[in-house]
Amino acid sequence: MNLTSPSQVKAWCIERGFHPNKTLGQNFLVDANTLEAILDIAAVREGMRVLEIGPGLGVLTQGLLARGANVTAIEKDSALAARLAEELRHPNLSLIAADALDEIKKGTCDGYDALVSNLPYQAGTRILLDLVLRPGARPETMTVLMQTEVCERLAAMPGDGKKRGLAGVLAQLDYDVECVREVPPSCFWPKPEVGSTVAKLVRHHRNDNVPAAVRETFRALAIRAFEHRRKQMGSIFKGVMHSTLRPEQLTNEEWLALAEGLTEK
Ligand code: SAH
Repeated sequence: MNLTSPSQVKAWCIERGFHPNKTLGQNFLVDANTLEAILDIAAVREGMRVLEIGPGLGVLTQGLLARGANVTAIEKDSALAARLAEELRHPNLSLIAADALDEIKKGTCDGYDALVSNLPYQAGTRILLDLVLRPGARPETMTVLMQTEVCERLAAMPGDGKKRGLAGVLAQLDYDVECVREVPPSCFWPKPEVGSTVAKLVRHHRNDNVPAAVRETFRALAIRAFEHRRKQMGSIFKGVMHSTLRPEQLTNEEWLALAEGLTEK
């Protein structure tokens, strides 16, 4: 089957009685240009150790293998995982039929050079943040195709208003985030109801020496603050801070300085 042919993908699903599952965010990429663009943006090279979460029918998996990557792909849907195991035998592919969120916790996702994934819409942010927050995971780069709104939130800086939130603050502690390319619904089957974007997250290593305890405080502070995003920092943390800024107005450097000041030595 040619996985960038919408009619072939559709026919395959109909023949098998396979109905794409909305809850699992199953929107298969069926566009060759977008596929090549993702591989280019991820700068996939020979021997790169790539983690792919949610391979689906394997369109991206095939592309990664064709460029010489060593791929570990984790698929939650057992029917799709079984199909991949049959159709995509390759010495450089390990396939895991499991929920990626469980695998991240177990350490299966530690030690990769890159994450390259067309992530399920619902679990996308959660999967990315779990990889970011786990010291052993944190790949050097993460190239992901996700809902545009989610990408914009991850990339948002102070001054971007409501888009600036917890996900961006947490991700940017270790990554520079860029929204690289928009992908219209017509590039998927079935067509999603929302626009999609390829985002690239690149580890910046500026905070590699921040101690675990400060990171803990950083995270707790940001979680607490964004529960009250309309309030001023001084009123969220009464008696501790006097700032009249709202959480969305602080830079990551300011968050980090606050966390350093509040972490017990
Ligand atoms: N990468 C494929 C499929 C994208 S759709 C393509 O581009 O065509 C998202 C995929 O993620 C689906 O195959 C879905 O079954 C899978 N998925 C959803 N939640 C998951 C999870 N928690 N862990 C692993 N895979 C998941």
